[in-house]
Amino acid sequence: MMTELPADLVEALAQAVPAVGGVLLGEAAKEKAVSDWSRVGTPLAVVRPSSTSEVSAALKLCNEARIPVTAWGGKTGLVHGIFSDGHIALSLERMAAIEEVDAIGGTITVEAGCILQTAAEAAEREGLLLPLDLGARGSAMIGGVIATNAGGNRVIRYGMVREMVLGLEAVLADGTVVSSMNHLIKNNAGYDLKQLFIGSEGTLGIVTRAVLRLKPLPTSQDTAFVGVESFEHLPRLLRHMEQRLSGSLSAYEVMWSDFYDLVTAPPALGRAPLEGRHPYYVLIEAQGQDQQADSERFEAVLMEAFEKDLLADAALAKSQAERNAMWELRDDIGQTARNWPIFTYDVSLRLGDMEDYVASVRTALEAAWPGKATLTVFGHLGDGNLHLVAGVGARDKATKKALNDIIYGEVTRRGGSISAEHGIGLEKQAWLGWSRNAEELQLMRLLKRTLDPANILNPGKVVTVEE
Ligand SMILES: Cc1cc2nc3c(=O)[nH]c(=O)nc-3n(C[C@H](O)[C@H](O)[C@H](O)COP(=O)(O)OP(=O)(O)OC[C@H]3O[C@@H](n4cnc5c(N)ncnc54)[C@H](O)[C@@H]3O)c2cc1C
Repeated sequence: MMTELPADLVEALAQAVPAVGGVLLGEAAKEKAVSDWSRVGTPLAVVRPSSTSEVSAALKLCNEARIPVTAWGGKTGLVHGIFSDGHIALSLERMAAIEEVDAIGGTITVEAGCILQTAAEAAEREGLLLPLDLGARGSAMIGGVIATNAGGNRVIRYGMVREMVLGLEAVLADGTVVSSMNHLIKNNAGYDLKQLFIGSEGTLGIVTRAVLRLKPLPTSQDTAFVGVESFEHLPRLLRHMEQRLSGSLSAYEVMWSDFYDLVTAPPALGRAPLEGRHPYYVLIEAQGQDQQADSERFEAVLMEAFEKDLLADAALAKSQAERNAMWELRDDIGQTARNWPIFTYDVSLRLGDMEDYVASVRTALEAAWPGKATLTVFGHLGDGNLHLVAGVGARDKATKKALNDIIYGEVTRRGGSISAEHGIGLEKQAWLGWSRNAEELQLMRLLKRTLDPANILNPGKVVTVEE
């Protein structure tokens, strides 16, 4: 692995990205190589272009020199996709412009370095909703959420990022700019090229700009925190809420009691919204356009659920502060670190398999590490997506492999996915084959070799092509 860039390449990069601070080396690069969420490694340089043409020029140089390049967005990814040891890190942070909010067409056009929350607020000022919402909203960038096809809290209503991207611009490894800035909802003129870059984690191209589809901004919001007595009631309550709220259900976030206990007890700042204890808790939210009528309906539908025994207790948010407090419980995932050492997981399963899956994992962990295992579970249950945080008293490689074998093994046995929304990155690379068959992997490698023949774009992440 190269430890220092050749001087002539540094000089050429500085010409390609000429602003002060356009190319950072040594200590200045190290200062940028920090993240609370991901391993970052030590990049050879951090290149900070301010335009697509600068991204293109930098990539062309790196491709000719066969130097790996890893894109950096907000560095909030949870699978170490930005790990850049011996790579050039290409940070999109200086490409943060909001180019247009088209209130008539319902689109927002942004550069890839625009922070998700900034884009959402710009849409909101025009009475429109950028429907993607996740805990990392204040740091994650549009390019990053596209590259990971992020999901988040409102997938149940609006889908994942893939559903929101109408067009994008990407730069290929050799510097070719593929501008596919489509604004149309319907466009079946040939292959849908943007899909190559959505969710490919910076391995097929660098996303530089995007057109996202907006929705009408909801003017009513109803939020409840409910306690549920058995797993069997969770999917039934979900279907009840979906059906009776006629399309306005926007979140259905489930927390197992182990998670709830962590986020409602000091040192966590959150406090229990319900008095009694229950095995499961659900944060339910609906969004609409008529606060009074919607609230009446929301309460009535919850009451029906109570009468059908689908829920045992419910607290309704009566103010924005109470709503925020409920969401802060759900988003306070950092509390799971109190069981340190831990490993975190993001898996997908069919709803009907979930209860048995969690029970099987618990049993297997207890059998392998008697008295030491902790398992904290929460997730976007409405999307079939669970997050598991497992601790067994150690965090070495062998422990991780043994844990992965159990947690992913139980997923694979049930035809689930080892990555619901966080991607593969470096973290799950060795397990990709547990969710994808040989032909799928072969086609992925063919795409990678075709678009990036020198294998410079985020090599070693998602799918390897060396073997
Ligand atoms: C508190 C918290 C909550 C989260 N909640 C959710 C959630 O609910 N749902 C969910 O799906 N995810 C969630 N995530 C993880 C999520 O994947 C990221 O937050 C986000 O999608 C990544 O954006 P980023 O800009 O930080 O990307 P980074 O972390 O910088 O990069 C992620 C990957 O994308 C690549 N990349 C970045 N920018 C580009 C680009 N312009 N072109 C090509 N490749 C690029 C990187 O190389 C890397 O492989 C959460 C993370 C945190 C910290």
